[in-house]
Amino acid sequence: MLDLTRTYLPETAALPTGPSTRAVHGPVDGRAPHAHHALITPIVQTATYTFRDTADLRQFMEAKLWGQATDREEYGRYGNPTVRAVEKRIAALENGGGALIFPSGMTAVTNVILAILPTGSHVIYTDDCYRKTRQFCNTTLRRLGIETTQVAMGDYDALEQAIRPHTRLVISESPTNPYLRVVDLERLVSIVKPHRRIKTIIDATFATPINQNPLDFGVDLVIHSATKYLSGHNDILAGVVVGEAGLLHALRQSQGVMGGILDPHAAYLLERGLKTLALRVRQQNQTAQAVAEFLETHPKVARVWYPGLPSHPDYETAVHQMRGFGGVVSFEIAPVPGEEPLHSASRFIDAMTIPLIAPSLGGVESLIEQPALMSFYELSTEERLTIGIKDNLVRFAIGIEDAADILADLAQALAQV
Ligand SMILES: *Cc1c(COP(=O)(O)O)cnc(C)c1O
Repeated sequence: MLDLTRTYLPETAALPTGPSTRAVHGPVDGRAPHAHHALITPIVQTATYTFRDTADLRQFMEAKLWGQATDREEYGRYGNPTVRAVEKRIAALENGGGALIFPSGMTAVTNVILAILPTGSHVIYTDDCYRKTRQFCNTTLRRLGIETTQVAMGDYDALEQAIRPHTRLVISESPTNPYLRVVDLERLVSIVKPHRRIKTIIDATFATPINQNPLDFGVDLVIHSATKYLSGHNDILAGVVVGEAGLLHALRQSQGVMGGILDPHAAYLLERGLKTLALRVRQQNQTAQAVAEFLETHPKVARVWYPGLPSHPDYETAVHQMRGFGGVVSFEIAPVPGEEPLHSASRFIDAMTIPLIAPSLGGVESLIEQPALMSFYELSTEERLTIGIKDNLVRFAIGIEDAADILADLAQALAQV
């Protein structure tokens, strides 16, 4: 008989563990206690680390010189025990050889891209992606003499044709923002892998490691804005990249130079958030599916974008490679005679009572926004349309409130449109 009041951990790391076990414990590697036998990873709030004497320092430097593992840190920019504990946990969740934490999702994106691409190289990225990633590619990278090609999401022929001899990187997101397009990762990898020098990066922020593990499909690096689901409480900014150990080692060297590191207190909050990741995401998947199905049959909604609906262009791919479809649902408010679509959508958002109006997603609080007014305010309706952002589009990032309350809120707000 199992005693359900205690936790049964596998005796060795070789035993398979599920996502909740990994989210709570990280890699299960025995019961080595933390300092002071604390159950919780201590917040090691220090800028630097001391050496007992010169011999101690020399021993550390020799080990470092020869690339041997050491069980201590040197200086805050090169590592911190609290941060490393979170890195291990996320690597375990993503089936990666290692992970590297950054102080925001964008520092992860920009540092990884800069570390990989030499001047004169070429990068391919897909169009429906985080706006700042796209901006970084077509402003900063171009200024550094790096060529960029944007290809339409889902156009695999265009992707193949865009590859040049000096292409070094293919970046995509899956699912994307705001249309929740899902990249066929097997197809992407089969196109890119024959070109040995090209690395693939998937920004999997919207999926979380609970719903999808891109590394399992042969993708080289996975990036998350840990500001979203991984931390899950709308209270910190953080980013992470996960991949094979050798590549991560090189990226870690680059991070030590670039200097973008997470504060240990924020790392503690990220670790705390991760423990409930599987619980939160499963609930968010479930509520989002119910919301998407409700909206799809509602007369005041013109179109719903959710990869868990058979009407979504990437439904088959999503079912094949994902275990859940995430907590974000995008939808278009149906035209109201005599009213600008922008205003109809705004009236709907203002009539909602539970979700707060804010950018971001993935936390316990539901957030709602109109992309036309949040991320693309400075553009005209026509300019927005050329990049696929419709004025009547609403992005609803579902939190962990009761599904019945969210559905009732949607029903009353739509009745007012
Ligand atoms: C939020 C987000 C980012 C940027 O992350 P920050 O933590 O805000 O820097 C990158 N990609 C996606 C998909 C995001 O949602």
